[in-house]
Amino acid sequence: MAETARYRGRGVVGMALGPALVVLAAFNCGGSPGPDPVIQALVDQVNQANISATVQDLSDPMALPEFTTRHTKSPTFPMVTDYLKQRCEGLGLTTSLHTWTRMSITASNVVCEISGATNPENIYIIGAHYDSTTDPAPSPPDYEPAPGATDNASGVAGALEMARIFLTANPGATLRFLFFAGEEQNLLGSKEYVEKLDADGELNNVELMLDIDEIGRINDLDPDNEVCNNPPAQTGPGMLGVCLESSSAHASVLDAFQSAGQLYTSLFFRRNLSPFGSDHISFLNEGVPALLTIEAYDGNNPVADTVNDVFAELDPELTAEIIKMNSAALARLVGVDP
Ligand SMILES: [Zn+2]
Repeated sequence: MAETARYRGRGVVGMALGPALVVLAAFNCGGSPGPDPVIQALVDQVNQANISATVQDLSDPMALPEFTTRHTKSPTFPMVTDYLKQRCEGLGLTTSLHTWTRMSITASNVVCEISGATNPENIYIIGAHYDSTTDPAPSPPDYEPAPGATDNASGVAGALEMARIFLTANPGATLRFLFFAGEEQNLLGSKEYVEKLDADGELNNVELMLDIDEIGRINDLDPDNEVCNNPPAQTGPGMLGVCLESSSAHASVLDAFQSAGQLYTSLFFRRNLSPFGSDHISFLNEGVPALLTIEAYDGNNPVADTVNDVFAELDPELTAEIIKMNSAALARLVGVDP
């Protein structure tokens, strides 16, 4: 979540559901199907060790000493950009940089794409910000460590793992993985990217934006400090939980992800229909269906945006379970043919 984490601008109501969700509705109307073997096989490819290794690269100085911070304004930030570009290229995705300047900050989003097999004009965006910070913001030129393991190396690692498994699954629609810069400075990278989509005439082709932010930590429930509070607490310590967040206009999108999660994971679910504080807002504000997937009780993550958000805070099982949910939901929406 962003450094001014509780700046929490409210999202704006978006457009009606796109055709892909109609397909899902039809699927669900056919009864109460159990796991689909094709989707189960895809989900089974999600690999905890891969996710951990990426989080470690990005957040543990013992792995890559040059990544002590991923602050967008730090002089070493372009090295992180290059790392992600190389990871996408290494997987075999079509990769480019979207470089922008806003609020006197210049940085690049990393764009990695799998073209749709049957409906390439239909775009699904999977977004995760790759910058990090501390609160209060570090002062230039000596940026203090900002390891950002849960916020948001976890989401970046998860999105890369999704890219890996979908690459050989022949998704029906185009999957565009977006690694945003400048999220912690008030969603700069995603705001710029939405403007680019509009300028390129692609905004109306975006069926859904899936935001993955802070999916790596099991937090204690604090009812007084928790926005993702529907339904009320339903779990004990150690259980793996996710918060699904969007505007009320897109509650059906949350249904789609929860339904997939119930079939293919052991997660418990909570919801927030007052979205704020991450890159999904940039899309919701322009009427694009979007949701955020985030660890349950994220309001009570004590290490986010601090020097203590280190690799040891990561719970790889939770991260993998949320990525399994996201993969299953996305596969059901776009169709796969591995
Ligand atoms: Zn974040």
